[in-house]
Amino acid sequence: MTHRTAEVAVFAGLRGPARTFSYLIPSGLDLEPGHLVRVGLGQRAVAGVVISLDGAVVARELRPVDALVHPLPLLRPHQLALAGWIAERYRCGLADAVRAMLPPALASRAPNTKLGTARGERTEAIFAIAPAGKEAMSGGVRLGARQLVTLRALAAGAFTARDLADAGGSTVAARALARRGLAVEGKRAVRRIPAEFALAEEDLSRDAIATPAQASALAAIIAALGTGRGFLLHGVTASGKTEVYLRAAAETLARGEGVIVLVPEIILTAQVVARFIARFGDRVALLHSALSAGERFDEWRRVLDGVADVVIGSRSALFAPLERVGLVVADEEQEPSYKQESDPRYHAVDAALALGRISGCAVVLGSATPRVTTYHAARAGALTMLPLPERVGELALPPTTVVDLRLELQSGNRSTLSQALRAALQHTVASGEQAILYLNRRGFATVVLCRDCGFVAKCPACDIPYAYHLDGSLVCHRCGRRAPRAPDRCPACGSPRIRQLGVGTQRVEEEVRAAVPRAKVIRLDRDAVRAKGSHAAAYERMRSGDAQVIVGTQMLAKGFDLPRVTLVGVVNADTVLNLPDFTAAERTFQLLTQVLGRSGRGAAGGRGILQTYLPEHYAIRAAAAHDYLTFAEAELEGRRRFGYPPFGRLVLLSTQAKKLETVEHRSAELFEWLREAAAGDAEVLGPAPAFAAKRAGSYRAQIVLRGARPEDVLDRVSLSDEWTVDVDPVTLLG
Ligand code: ADP
Ligand code: ZN
Ligand code: ZN
Repeated sequence: MTHRTAEVAVFAGLRGPARTFSYLIPSGLDLEPGHLVRVGLGQRAVAGVVISLDGAVVARELRPVDALVHPLPLLRPHQLALAGWIAERYRCGLADAVRAMLPPALASRAPNTKLGTARGERTEAIFAIAPAGKEAMSGGVRLGARQLVTLRALAAGAFTARDLADAGGSTVAARALARRGLAVEGKRAVRRIPAEFALAEEDLSRDAIATPAQASALAAIIAALGTGRGFLLHGVTASGKTEVYLRAAAETLARGEGVIVLVPEIILTAQVVARFIARFGDRVALLHSALSAGERFDEWRRVLDGVADVVIGSRSALFAPLERVGLVVADEEQEPSYKQESDPRYHAVDAALALGRISGCAVVLGSATPRVTTYHAARAGALTMLPLPERVGELALPPTTVVDLRLELQSGNRSTLSQALRAALQHTVASGEQAILYLNRRGFATVVLCRDCGFVAKCPACDIPYAYHLDGSLVCHRCGRRAPRAPDRCPACGSPRIRQLGVGTQRVEEEVRAAVPRAKVIRLDRDAVRAKGSHAAAYERMRSGDAQVIVGTQMLAKGFDLPRVTLVGVVNADTVLNLPDFTAAERTFQLLTQVLGRSGRGAAGGRGILQTYLPEHYAIRAAAAHDYLTFAEAELEGRRRFGYPPFGRLVLLSTQAKKLETVEHRSAELFEWLREAAAGDAEVLGPAPAFAAKRAGSYRAQIVLRGARPEDVLDRVSLSDEWTVDVDPVTLLG
């Protein structure tokens, strides 16, 4: 007789790709792919997911599956197929990919994994009127005033403590009624939604007539539901992209299929989330790593049970267990946070396109500044381009001036604010309007340097200069180490001429206060938002008009929809541009476009000022002109010349060790192997020190593979655990 077997991906914390094992299916156990099971592995009992049935039967004795953890398959067939794609593309274990699809509370709680309600789930009391209560309403039973009101409220359909209180009744009275048999008490689970997402956004544009551009985009998407087609919805902020997502989602739901909406960072995209909740209510589930394990489990469970069929979240929302996915949206598709920086190192947008091919769902990527790789795919016909060229309501994009900082220096202006920016700031504040000043460096100064001997104060663990903060401390922006006091004499030569150089947000804040002494100025950066909720508080102070100027980092590039902001000033547009990375120009263009988009969102219009030492650079010129196409052409030209994506793909191999020789030896050895193995199929670049050559006491090195299918080279060498593998990295600045 033949035995049936199951291939199981086990969650055992093993490394290496081969972590699926065959087990016998005991008679009487009805297994299906996607089932969560308990199996023995060595001496241990571990959890695992059934990948397939009746795989290649191996001659040796097989152990049987110990138990089924939950009667329903927890992963759908399309999810298992997507896990297979991720394992293959990103060269990670199938078990890692499968595990990423389960809520952490479930995947980690082996071996006694139970699919109960989440730990700590809250319940609330609910009440209903009993038949005896209905009779009592017509008199004959003596009731206190509060009890009578409560009974009437129950008769009218009141249900929760809140309902009762609203009607003038109370839980205490309802319990008294229950004791007398006039009412019944029950319990129900309370859905835990973090307060940030309970924003009640009014759904103003639900019934608005679609603009012609929106209408044709929608028609194309709806025609493609079920075909696996991918789209690039290319439109500036406020061009109506979100409204297109909402309407495409409604159409998908009407066909009985589910929707997944990916957003890069849920806190910074709270408005998009709120609009989905406003339109689809309880059908929305939120899946995001900022939720507690219990909250995530609850939301996941609502999707599995079919209660929620609109899933919104960051990366991992793509793995929601919807029975049928009809549409996946990836908003702000260019954001690097779509790439997971730990195993499995998948890119959620690229994986969404793969899910389209697997399950036939339509995939819509939205952005004002798409990755040039995405733009290239659209131009080549792999994606359909859907342009939304104008802002809804005829708002113009802010005219932007480029200020050459070299000329400022020549004219003797040593301030961080150019003459033009200072004047514009003063004018803005004097007219009762608001301004945003952007700089992506925290702190006051970026380096503390001795003018006599050149000594630079550095973090001993990372070997990079400490940043000077206004409270007098030195902070390492790489590992967070702090030295409480900056030296007032050079530790190397004893000279008192030790100075702070470079510009951070704190210094800009100070100079702004000096330039507009009567304005209220606030600062928003990672130092300022340590306290939870201060991002929202800063936004609120600007929205209410309490503050006039906000100085900050990237954090204010998103979500700040402030109609009274008429000036956006970029203090130094070059900080990212000067980084040695293949995406430096692209990130610069994206960031500048995003920040400039904060200006002129109201009737008063707006303007932008970009300060730069590189006024001729194509990324800066194109950002000032709001000209994506010119930027993309120039960028793609450079990418083509060097074989960077989309003209070649990359694999980044990184390693680290406490001793420099260890790292050097290890990387020289792998480099030689790879060169032999590559045999002309890919270039092997390096070995080189990583951009963060030292971090928290470890030396770091990297090797880069570049070619058409560089990951194939990895099949020909055996990599040790000391290397991390990043296929399609979004940056080489590890
Ligand atoms: P984006 O996602 O591109 O930033 P939104 O969809 O948020 O754009 O649209 C910008 C603003 O215009 C929103 O306030 C939205 O409610 C409104 N809006 C969108 N489409 C329409 C329309 N067809 N008619 C009127 N208002 C619209
Ligand atoms: Zn010195
Ligand atoms: Zn450090």
